[in-house]
Amino acid sequence: MGAGKSIGRNYRIWQRIQTAIEVVYPPRCIGCGEMAASDFGLCGPCWRETPFIGGTVCHSCGAPVPGSDDGHRIDCDDCLRRPQPWAEGRAALLYQGRARSLVLALKHGDRSELAKPAARWMAQAGRTLFRPDTVIAPVPLHWSRLLKRRYNQSALLSLHLGKEAGLPVCPDLLRRKRRTPPLEGKTAAERAETLREAITLHPRRGQVLRGRSVLLVDDVMTSGATLAACSRACQEAGAAHISVLVLARVAKDA
Ligand SMILES: [Zn+2]
Ligand SMILES: [Zn+2]
Repeated sequence: MGAGKSIGRNYRIWQRIQTAIEVVYPPRCIGCGEMAASDFGLCGPCWRETPFIGGTVCHSCGAPVPGSDDGHRIDCDDCLRRPQPWAEGRAALLYQGRARSLVLALKHGDRSELAKPAARWMAQAGRTLFRPDTVIAPVPLHWSRLLKRRYNQSALLSLHLGKEAGLPVCPDLLRRKRRTPPLEGKTAAERAETLREAITLHPRRGQVLRGRSVLLVDDVMTSGATLAACSRACQEAGAAHISVLVLARVAKDA
């Protein structure tokens, strides 16, 4: 092979690498994989199809409520009827449509790269929950589920949220002592009973919460039973203020 031919061939390979870099480098939409111009992680159409929670929300569970926020505390009917054991709660998305598929991809699809943009949305939705003494802690997974899924999506969200909010994260603050069966289809009382004593403070984290604020993080809130069990464990450990922040809230009418 002559030198000219080799240079030409190398040039063509270089051109191909350049093209590949240009194709790979622009941000990709985490919803559909198309090129996205913004750094929010979603292209325009996916952004419009993703049900972000905005406007007036329940201060306990983060669900949208009618009316305008005049600065006074607002609670939805469910939270008025059955007050949550935590002080404040927010959610970034409604658990439906494209938001549901993003949550499921993070939970079961090994799409850990979704956690960073998701945590950014959560930081936005939960910005009023951050206090100077807040420690962030994820809802724990039982170790057997952790083995199957490779990572705890709530712990991953917590770590990214900590960076967004500039707050410390304690990934092993809480732990699940025994494996709890799926809670779907159970009544509120049955869920609470199932979770009772299943979630406890890590024995080596006994003093972390004393007199401090804690922000509990999960991917989805349905009835709030799991977060309630976590809140009770934090209360017993002496937490002064408990709030919760989730990626998606199951809408009551959905
Ligand atoms: Zn898209
Ligand atoms: Zn509520």
